Amino acid sequence: MARIIVVGAGMGGLAAASRLAALGHRVTVLEAAGGHGGQVGAYRRDGFGFDTGPGLLTLPAVYRDLALKTGREPLEQLVGLRPIDPESRHLFPDGTELLLPNASRGGVGQALDAAFGAGTGARWGELVNRGRTVWEATRRPLLEEPRPAVDPADPYPVPPRRGLSRLLPRGRYTLGDVARELGGGPGPAALLGEYALRHGLDPLAAPASATVLPYMEQSFGVWYVDGGLRALADAVFERCVERGAEFRFDTPVRALERDGERVVGVRTDEGVLAADAVLSAVPGLGAAAPAPAPGRFTVLLALDGARRAGTAHRTVVHAADGAAEVRAVFAERTLPARPTVQVLRPDDPALVPGPDAEAAVLTVTVPAGLALTDAEQDAYAEELLAHLAASGLDLRPRLRWRETRFTATVPPPSLAGGHLARANGPGPAGLYLIGAHAHPGGGLARVGMSASITAGLLGPA
Ligand SMILES: Cc1cc2nc3c(=O)[nH]c(=O)nc-3n(C[C@H](O)[C@H](O)[C@H](O)COP(=O)(O)OP(=O)(O)OC[C@H]3O[C@@H](n4cnc5c(N)ncnc54)[C@H](O)[C@@H]3O)c2cc1C
Repeated sequence: MARIIVVGAGMGGLAAASRLAALGHRVTVLEAAGGHGGQVGAYRRDGFGFDTGPGLLTLPAVYRDLALKTGREPLEQLVGLRPIDPESRHLFPDGTELLLPNASRGGVGQALDAAFGAGTGARWGELVNRGRTVWEATRRPLLEEPRPAVDPADPYPVPPRRGLSRLLPRGRYTLGDVARELGGGPGPAALLGEYALRHGLDPLAAPASATVLPYMEQSFGVWYVDGGLRALADAVFERCVERGAEFRFDTPVRALERDGERVVGVRTDEGVLAADAVLSAVPGLGAAAPAPAPGRFTVLLALDGARRAGTAHRTVVHAADGAAEVRAVFAERTLPARPTVQVLRPDDPALVPGPDAEAAVLTVTVPAGLALTDAEQDAYAEELLAHLAASGLDLRPRLRWRETRFTATVPPPSLAGGHLARANGPGPAGLYLIGAHAHPGGGLARVGMSASITAGLLGPA
């Protein structure tokens, strides 16, 4: 049995602690905040409840595996898990509306043909097939195994080039190139770009391997956890406690303790804690802090009046000017005007004070490392509500109150041909990196995999 210290009780730390405790190690989790969950946060006020971090789960297989490996129980026994349907409703600036079914490739194709003209569905289907090629080539090296020594080449199969484009020099194939082949006006390109933007990636410059994102969502579905995604963090926390992991909250780790090159523990305000291995989910602790990634701006809306039957769980209001949004977020580093907004409106009685109320969350991708004052957050929230109203979704007359949240940097997933996050280990002996800043990058599925890979590196007690 090894003494293991996990720094950070976000989803990365919780997933790692539960797996290692189940493998028989003595695990202590040190967390600077007063509770667990990290970015998988929840907020309650006046009977309303909101996820302040992720609101939906993709690739639930990662947490199904965690549930089985740490307790031989299906995930469904720990949390209420259900696919959302439709997967999303999209409102485009020209008034086009698109309703995409969940995990139905045929249904998606039909919906695209109806919204953007015959043939769009087939072209999207071709794109998703190429995304499957990426998935098959990169699933193991980029999701299931320790980080490869070099960034794998982008395996996205480039289609035969037609017409004049044959005469142009070929550089790296980007998501922007893929989008141009979709046709059907700006709508399908905006649809593809939203997957990238939502993951903090540039929709034009990201490698074409980012097509794996729509492939994964449209193949494995998009899921909701009853009570909100926070319930998943609570369930994994419970699992850690059941397996004997110890938690110390309000305990920031100030530095790693070393013996020569080897990491032998951590330093807290109470003194030094010795360990055979330290797992860090904290950027900058154990490795230089990575370059900041785009952040998320979130508006929590407490609404009067019942949620109307048939309301989509997830609505995407697309940017008035997609190119201007990309310039603002990735080049000018300013708040994008009339941006792409994700609106989550869960059908969940646990999140409202009664049947005559609704809780909704708006999320926008904003530039990396931005600092926003309360007044700026307030003004931006007002702008977003006006943008939604102009796009046909006016929630303002029903507003009881609203609050804003802002996370300055949210690491993106690793992509082939893109940027690989840091290896989990071996770095300096005794130190392992986990969570969104480590391989295979950000997002709930990937931080769950970073825990699985690291538990594999450490092995059973
Ligand atoms: C608004 C928002 C929406 C998102 N939407 C999605 C989504 O739809 N799908 C998806 O997959 N992902 C989404 N994400 C990303 C996802 O939530 C994160 O990738 C994941 O939760 C990161 O987990 P983590 O454990 O690596 O980091 P964190 O959750 O950041 O945890 C790190 C923990 O370390 C603690 N800590 C920091 N410094 C110290 C220290 N010195 N000592 C001790 N403890 C310390 C922090 O308090 C924190 O609890 C979203 C994130 C946000 C903010």
